[in-house]
Amino acid sequence: EGAIRFKDVRFHYDADRPILKGIDFEVPAGKSIAIVGPSGAGKSTISRLLFRFYDVSGGAVEIDGQDVRDVTQESVRLAIGMVPQDTVLFNDTIAYNIRYGRPDATDEEVREAARMAQIQDFIENLPQGYQSEVGERGLKLSGGEKQRVAIARTILKAPPILILDEATSALDTHTEREIQSALDQVSKNRTTLVIAHRLSTVVNADQIIVLEAGQIAERGTHLELLDKN
Ligand code: ADP
Ligand code: ADP
Repeated sequence: EGAIRFKDVRFHYDADRPILKGIDFEVPAGKSIAIVGPSGAGKSTISRLLFRFYDVSGGAVEIDGQDVRDVTQESVRLAIGMVPQDTVLFNDTIAYNIRYGRPDATDEEVREAARMAQIQDFIENLPQGYQSEVGERGLKLSGGEKQRVAIARTILKAPPILILDEATSALDTHTEREIQSALDQVSKNRTTLVIAHRLSTVVNADQIIVLEAGQIAERGTHLELLDKN
């Protein structure tokens, strides 16, 4: 469950300016793909089309062989978890923020997800800048800790498809390494689409696409791409 296919996908936000110019790729269920390329190449647009925030201008996006336009936006989004670049937290406890994608989750499930993301010690705290009704001040979370809240949320939601959008780009090397192992945990056995600037951060992806100005300039494994360049 969770196979992704882009078939000659074309897309423009404004009619006179094509953004994606014929994107083809296929990710078998449980495998990973990394989309690497400079800013403005169209990487995030690919994830928005997968999410059905927008519909394609030409071609098709399929999940498990089904055109995403033939299913509801809601069911597409339920199948996909996202760890974004900047995690914005709600004005409520970390536990609430973790539970957000799955309101039915038990306290025990929330704690387990928090433990896997290594934020179990402060799930009853509020994020920085917020104040609880009893006057308690929020806890200052680092960028890495906020990312872990997003990761814990995704662990709990357990979607078949995962999008990691520059999930470690804002972090220092030490934090990046820690987050990376949490991300490796979540992405195991899930179809994963990783968006990244640098080839060096996607060594383990099953396939890599290099996107330039809305077109696939190169594709291969990390080793194959290193050989070419
Ligand atoms: P990347 O993720 O590779 O940096 P994006 O997919 O965000 O690239 O953007 C690709 C191009 O689409 C850029 O030129 C960007 O300015 C343009 N773009 C992105 N979002 C919008 C939008 N909502 N409306 C119009 N143009 C947009
Ligand atoms: P949920 O499925 O968790 O109820 P959404 O369907 O709104 O929430 O979004 C799913 C994920 O996509 C969330 O983790 C959120 O951070 C991310 N997301 C929401 N809106 C955008 C957007 N415009 N661009 C990129 N990511 C988004």
